[in-house]
Amino acid sequence: MLVIQKYGGSSLQGADRIRAVAERVLTTRRGGHDVVVVCSAMGDTSDELIGLARTVSSDRPAREMDMLLTSGERVSNALVAMAVHNLGGTAKSLSGAQAGIHTDGHHGSARITAIEPVRVREALDVGAVPFVSGFQGICPQSGDLTTLGRGGSDVTAVALAAAMNADLCEIYTDVEGVYTADPRVVPRARRLEALSTVEMLEMAAAGAKVLMPRCVEYAHRHGVDVHVRSSFTDRPGTLVSHSSEGDSMEGSCITGVAHLRSVAQITVCGLSADPSATTSLFEVLAEGGIPIDMVQRSRSAAGHTMAFTVPASDGPRATDLLKQRRENSGDEHVSCDLTVSQVSLVGVGIGAGRTSIVARLCRTLTEAGIDIGPIAASELRISLLCPAGRLDEAVRALHRDFGLDGATEGTVEAGAIR
Ligand code: ASP
Ligand code: MG
Repeated sequence: MLVIQKYGGSSLQGADRIRAVAERVLTTRRGGHDVVVVCSAMGDTSDELIGLARTVSSDRPAREMDMLLTSGERVSNALVAMAVHNLGGTAKSLSGAQAGIHTDGHHGSARITAIEPVRVREALDVGAVPFVSGFQGICPQSGDLTTLGRGGSDVTAVALAAAMNADLCEIYTDVEGVYTADPRVVPRARRLEALSTVEMLEMAAAGAKVLMPRCVEYAHRHGVDVHVRSSFTDRPGTLVSHSSEGDSMEGSCITGVAHLRSVAQITVCGLSADPSATTSLFEVLAEGGIPIDMVQRSRSAAGHTMAFTVPASDGPRATDLLKQRRENSGDEHVSCDLTVSQVSLVGVGIGAGRTSIVARLCRTLTEAGIDIGPIAASELRISLLCPAGRLDEAVRALHRDFGLDGATEGTVEAGAIR
């Protein structure tokens, strides 16, 4: 059996954890399986490197940022490989480029275009454990190193699993799997034993941080099943699979409650009634690579208004792009509100009961005295905006009222979920 194991930054924080990961890898290897390991950078290394870059330059070329950030994963993979040697195993660490991970040239958010894992296979053939630096690749046209976006080691693992036709892709993290809500916000959140890849896709897009959305997208497209587990325990984790039906509790058609704390709501007032104005508005955002959600259009005596959300980190750039556009589009006024958050209910049962779910959701939040902003519904998800300061309460109230609370409060093993 070929197993891909990916370890997140918090699982690699410090020598003890590195040794524990090496032991886990060898246990799998000695169980007779081929193992390919993908490690993220240790702990907060990537954030620290970004902080360091900020202290030396206000203008940080994306190429240089990628040169800098790719180093974090080389450090951790080499260290775990050494720890494996120390325990009597053989291992060989490889950068993303050496592992044959080819990407396009978009520094900071490159997409994998091909994987030629020749050296990974060579290492396996001589009985060694290959360690592949996560989150990175090389653009063959420019010869430059690239990164896949924050949290991108998940993508590396799933992409390798697809390319090498692995039997299992395990993502080791600091929580015991995928939960019905972020356990740091909802102490009674329950671990899901299994859920479908499409539900996970919705959960990740709606803010569940346990897996990077693009990794789930990749898994979905390439038919890779992903097993999310804790590197701190031997508990069973969550299987995210194509065949899985999910295990939403009886009496609830909701699989989980996800949230996005940092959302920017952009409003464009005074939009021309000419439909081409709306088209060009979204074209500008699409060219800027800005993901939008919760689109609303309204019309009043004052003219047309278009409102939508973007990740808070994209808020200023989206506003600038739209303001530049306004110079060519008459009387528009663009504003950016950073005081909202988004909460979403996700589940395959949503389609059928949408109206009653929205009604119940409104009742829950109204009883809690929480203002309800725009609501958007699809077959798998209902999202709404609420005041950022009331987000945690909203998540907890919905989790309870939709029957998701577990009997006891759980524990989160370590710090931030990466
Ligand atoms: N080290 C990178 C980050 O912090 C990639 C990863 O952790 O997957 O975003
Ligand atoms: Mg992660």
